[in-house]
Amino acid sequence: MKLLVVEDEMQLADALSEILKRNMYSVDTCYDGIEGCDNAMTGLYDGIILDINLPGMNGLEILRKMRQEKISTPVLLLTARSEIDDKINGLDCGADDYLTKPFVTGELLARVRALTRRKGEIIDESRLDFNGLTLNKNTCSLSWEGNEVKLSLKEYQIMELLIGNPNQILPKERIIEKIWGYESDVEYNNIEVYISFLRKKLAAISAPSQIKTARGIGYSLVKE
Ligand code: CA
Repeated sequence: MKLLVVEDEMQLADALSEILKRNMYSVDTCYDGIEGCDNAMTGLYDGIILDINLPGMNGLEILRKMRQEKISTPVLLLTARSEIDDKINGLDCGADDYLTKPFVTGELLARVRALTRRKGEIIDESRLDFNGLTLNKNTCSLSWEGNEVKLSLKEYQIMELLIGNPNQILPKERIIEKIWGYESDVEYNNIEVYISFLRKKLAAISAPSQIKTARGIGYSLVKE
């Protein structure tokens, strides 16, 4: 899951990003409205945490522009306690939810989980399954029939993309964008290294699923 945090109070922005990263999200952070808007308009994110009062361009303007351009990324607005009108305006502009500052970590994470839950889908948020293979968020591990193996954060994030889009070829560019950021200079062979670690781990737990290479394109998770 890839999130964008747009918040000009640097300490708060960095704290938010740290909390989210510790909870397995990959996070890009912007401290001003213009850069935030440019990033939001890519449509690359699974969710955006958006402050309202920002230098350059305010959160409501960003939100309005996104919705006009049919960017449907879910948005959680950050509002100050006194900004009742902002909440109403925000929801009118197409925000999905809002969170009043100051907030506690537990509430933030619950709101973000609700925000990124796909519509109509009933899922146990702590796990993803494919062909008996389970990716467990709480333990950062992959399991099959009682065999379990721990994953590093990057391995977890790549597997989350694969298992969330099974039987589909995921282009390498898309994996890089989602996990390292779209201006990343990660070399393609870095991904190959992580994929080879994941293949070894799938073999270690004897899972009857494999990561197939689509030469020159990307990877897919399929039944063996
Ligand atoms: Ca602000």
